[in-house]
Amino acid sequence: MTLSLYVDGDRWRAHLRRVLAGQPGLVPVAKGNGYGFGNGRLARRAGWLGVDTLAVGTYDEIDDVAGRFDGDLLVLSPWRPFHPGAQQHREDPRVLHTVGRLEDLADLADGPGRPRVVLERATSMQRHGFDGDELREAARVSGRGGLRLEGVALHLPLPGTSHLTEVHRLLAEVADTGLGPRTGTAWVSHLGAEELDALAGSWPDLRFRQRVGTALWLGDLRALHPRATVLDSHPVSRGDAYVYRGRTAPRDGTLLVVSGGTAHGIALEAPTGDPGMRAKAVSLAKGGLDAAGWVRSPYVVEGKHRLFAEPPHMQASMLFLPARVHPPPVGEEIPVRVRYTTTSFDRVVFSDPG
Ligand SMILES: *Cc1c(COP(=O)(O)O)cnc(C)c1O
Repeated sequence: MTLSLYVDGDRWRAHLRRVLAGQPGLVPVAKGNGYGFGNGRLARRAGWLGVDTLAVGTYDEIDDVAGRFDGDLLVLSPWRPFHPGAQQHREDPRVLHTVGRLEDLADLADGPGRPRVVLERATSMQRHGFDGDELREAARVSGRGGLRLEGVALHLPLPGTSHLTEVHRLLAEVADTGLGPRTGTAWVSHLGAEELDALAGSWPDLRFRQRVGTALWLGDLRALHPRATVLDSHPVSRGDAYVYRGRTAPRDGTLLVVSGGTAHGIALEAPTGDPGMRAKAVSLAKGGLDAAGWVRSPYVVEGKHRLFAEPPHMQASMLFLPARVHPPPVGEEIPVRVRYTTTSFDRVVFSDPG
C-alpha cells in the first residue's frame, strides 16, 4: 500500500529558483533514490530550471535522466575502464567523465574520439582523485590532444565547516600545473555562498560550479509532507499476544497497521532526532517501553511518534497506540518522518501540475 510524498508545488519551486538565483553556476545532482523524488523527475525539473548541466552519481543512472534533460551530464563517480556503462558512454558527447587515476586518463586519452574529462583532485575526503604530483602528470596527459578538458573537480567533505583554506591551497596547486586557465572551470561541492563569493574573487580565471543535491531538492522541508496510509486497526488488551514474534501488548490500546516498510526504507530506528545517549539513559531510568525493547517509530499520531509494535515488515509496519489515543480510521493518512535520501515513496503527489 501507499507511502506518499505530498509536495507543496509553489513553495518547492520557489525554493529551487531562489537557490539557483543565489548560485548561477549551480549543477543540480540527481542520484541514488533521487532524494525521494526519483531521478527522472529531478531531471525534468533541472530542465525547467534552465541549467545546462545535470550531475548523476553513476553511469547506471544516465538512462533515467538522459531522455528527460537535454543538457550535459556530469558523472560524479570516477570513470573506470571495467565498468560497462563507462565504456558505453566513453565518447558520448553529452557526458563529462570524472577521472582520478592516471591509468584511466591514459586509457581515455589513447582510445577513440576525444572524451570530455574533469580531473578530480583528491581532498581531505580521501575518497578519489589525483594527488599533487599526479595532477601535474594528468595536466601533461590531457594536453596531448586525445581529451577535451572540462575542468578540475574538488569534492569537499560535508557542509558545516569552512573548506576555504583547503580549496585555496588546492587551487594554487592547480594553477601551478598550468591547468587553471586551460580548464576554466572548478567543480566544487558543499561550499557556502560566502565561500563561493570569496573564491570567485580570488580566482577570477575560474568559473566555480557547485554541485548541489540536498540543499536544492530538500532545502525547504516545509514544502514536503510524507504520509502513510492506515491499513488496519485492532483493539488489544494488556497481555494479549499478537503476531509474528509472540510479543504481548504492554497495555490496553490499538495495534495500527500502516503503509511503509523495509522496502520503502522505513527503519527500526527513528530516522531523525536520534535521542542520543542521554535521552536513552533517561528512558531506561524511567523504565519506559523503549527500555523494554520498544522502539519509537517515524509515524506520528496525535502529534507524537508512536512505538513500533514489532519491526517493520516489507511494505507495512505495525504500531502500538495506548488506549488514550484515538486510532485514526482505516484509509486515513498520517504523517511519517523519513530520511529522504533513503526512502522510496510509492507516489509523489504535487499540489498542482506546475
Ligand atoms: C552527492 C554529491 C554532491 C551532492 O551532495 P549533497 O550533499 O546532496 O548536496 C556533490 N558533489 C559530489 C561529488 C557528490 O557525490
